[in-house]
Amino acid sequence: MNAQGLDQIPVTALKRVGPKLAERLHKLGIHTAADLLFHLPARYQDRSRLRALAELRDGDEALVEGVVEDAQIAHGRRRSLKVWLRDAAGGGLMLRFFHFSRAQMDGMRIGARLRCFGEVRQGPQTLEMVHPEVQYQPADAADGSAGGAAVDVPLTPIYPSTEGMQQITWRGLTDQALALLAAHPQALADLVPAVIAEPLGLPPLHEAIQTVHRPPADAPMQAPMQTQLRAQVQALVERSHPACLRLAFDEMLAHQLALRRLRAERRHLAAVGLAGDGALRGRLLAGLPFALTAAQRRVVDEIARDLAGTRPMMRLLQGDVGSGKTVVAALAALQAVECDRQVALMAPTELLAEQHRKSLAGWLGPLGLDIAWLSGRHKGAERAQVLARIAAGEARVIVGTHALFQQDVTFAALGLVIIDEQHRFGVHQRMALREKGAEQGRLPHQLIMTATPIPRSLAMAVYADLDLSVIDELPPGRTPIKTVAVPDSRRDEVIERVRKACAAGRQAYWVCTLVEESEALQAQAAEDAAADLRERLGGLRIGLVHGRVKAGEREPVMAAFAAGELDLLVATTVIEVGVDVPNASLMIIENPERLGLAQLHQLRGRVGRGSVESYCLLLYHAPLTAAARERLDILRRETSGFAIADADLRMRGAGEVLGTRQAGMAAFRLADPLRDKDLVRAAQQGADRLLADASPDGRARVTALIHRWLGDREDYGHV
Ligand code: ADP
Ligand code: MG
Repeated sequence: MNAQGLDQIPVTALKRVGPKLAERLHKLGIHTAADLLFHLPARYQDRSRLRALAELRDGDEALVEGVVEDAQIAHGRRRSLKVWLRDAAGGGLMLRFFHFSRAQMDGMRIGARLRCFGEVRQGPQTLEMVHPEVQYQPADAADGSAGGAAVDVPLTPIYPSTEGMQQITWRGLTDQALALLAAHPQALADLVPAVIAEPLGLPPLHEAIQTVHRPPADAPMQAPMQTQLRAQVQALVERSHPACLRLAFDEMLAHQLALRRLRAERRHLAAVGLAGDGALRGRLLAGLPFALTAAQRRVVDEIARDLAGTRPMMRLLQGDVGSGKTVVAALAALQAVECDRQVALMAPTELLAEQHRKSLAGWLGPLGLDIAWLSGRHKGAERAQVLARIAAGEARVIVGTHALFQQDVTFAALGLVIIDEQHRFGVHQRMALREKGAEQGRLPHQLIMTATPIPRSLAMAVYADLDLSVIDELPPGRTPIKTVAVPDSRRDEVIERVRKACAAGRQAYWVCTLVEESEALQAQAAEDAAADLRERLGGLRIGLVHGRVKAGEREPVMAAFAAGELDLLVATTVIEVGVDVPNASLMIIENPERLGLAQLHQLRGRVGRGSVESYCLLLYHAPLTAAARERLDILRRETSGFAIADADLRMRGAGEVLGTRQAGMAAFRLADPLRDKDLVRAAQQGADRLLADASPDGRARVTALIHRWLGDREDYGHV
């Protein structure tokens, strides 16, 4: 084994890896021992310090200690045991157990001292921990919450996982991979040349890997040592530890290389130039009930110039919700149609695709173009017919979901691919669609539209393969949405307000939020709210959608709301993206303090689309943390998505703002391009340097680095 590289050792050679586990690992792109070493902890559980109860916040994962002040069995919808804990500093916390034994109940009687580890969340009345891990402490022990009491394992790595795989399995696997690395250090090459890594003052690769997987175990603690360890632990948690930075650097370097390679290869690719004679576009513009904004005109020009060229366009169009991206897309589509080419417009959901189909039909219909529609729901003869029209080139503008790039879809002459809300589509899907249009080595142009604003400098770093167009202006005449924060003690008034708005013929959204981790809980909250509102708002037509409602059943509800057949739509955050119902002018967001700014802004963008004044009521639960209060304040003050994104970045750092879920760009494991700005710059320079070396060794090194970090996503680096 020792002559072999770790990237040559299949996971199946490891102990306790059978075919089933191997398959699960493969699905995650983990094939070799080396892959395991680069499967890095997503976070750590910090059991290194007791937290004061008073400082706990919703969402914290914490180790706490206190004395039981009261314990009761509650007979609500579900029987539960509630235990009130108080610590020496006077802070309180409720523990809640839905399953409990007699012995547990006895252990948690009044006066007992407990140490608990678990996640804190906002319960109906107060902060609570549901089913924490509990350790019973001697009742006379000194309360440790004042200082950081020593615990045997300071940080427990938590690995990104998949259904059916326990953390203990991950620890077992990474233990084996780390042991191999320790025994055969030369079996894992450090691909970053010393001239690049050394000036950064970061540790060698092997050391970094060891530290990040297995944070240094607790040494016997004297006071100064403890402080030092504390700082290290903190740095690891916050990812500012040199070991994290070293890996983050390598990762960013690999991404830069992949994106640069992609961009460089694009220079050698050909596309059909789609200059067009402007006839159709002229007719569309003449027929529009509005004039384009200056920002729209600018991006339309940028796109038109790219389309006319013979290199495939790869352009990202950013614009706030409601900034008018669709008409820009329509103009691009017409330019392609003027050249007898086909256009595919892809949206992430059926509902959004349907909305695009309608807008485009309204605009392009009068020009004699009909819009073909390909959805996952089309089956049999109907589908065959649409496919035939696409293959024959009769269908010019085709709108759909990812059904558009299934195997059996062939285009006659695909000239342009437009993707809306790109963050719901992976890079792979983008590639697949592009490949579809490849015709004698010529690729279709691509336009990607997103409503997630990202500062330009950051966009350059993470979207280095794309050109960027920004619509930084809203159409005139919009009445800005009035946003008001209301404590939930005034829920009754808010419900009255909904009644009045609907009585006046308007429509409203009622959005239920919960910590995202549990879709079931979130669905339940929406069900409860809908039941309550139905009872209290008799006479109103109320619909309900949430993630547990199947897509097939969700759409008719959304469609009914869009058609004005429902007055009130109770929903979870599933309605976040793209729904356009101009008559909806009131939105209630329950517990907005649980959501991030960007998400709140996206949600709010569902109203304010018509001519009537719109309101967004943030129905918060007091007391608010300082950060939550600031978020709600920003939202009340600011209406521009860019201003909000900036504030968001300042408050939270890029890690969360750019989290794959929100921005959906290349998913980073460790790197955080906003927080680690200096590293981005270093990675860009490093990439320049590595790419300048065109020798076979140099090229192999680049390929290996890309492969190491992007693994199965290697096509990211190749066209
Ligand atoms: P988004 O960028 O969120 O996709 P849309 O394209 O859905 O925004 O546009 C929002 C609304 O604004 C649509 O009803 C659209 O017709 C309208 N609109 C687009 N551009 C203009 C403009 N220049 N002036 C007035 N209304 C516009
Ligand atoms: Mg849109």
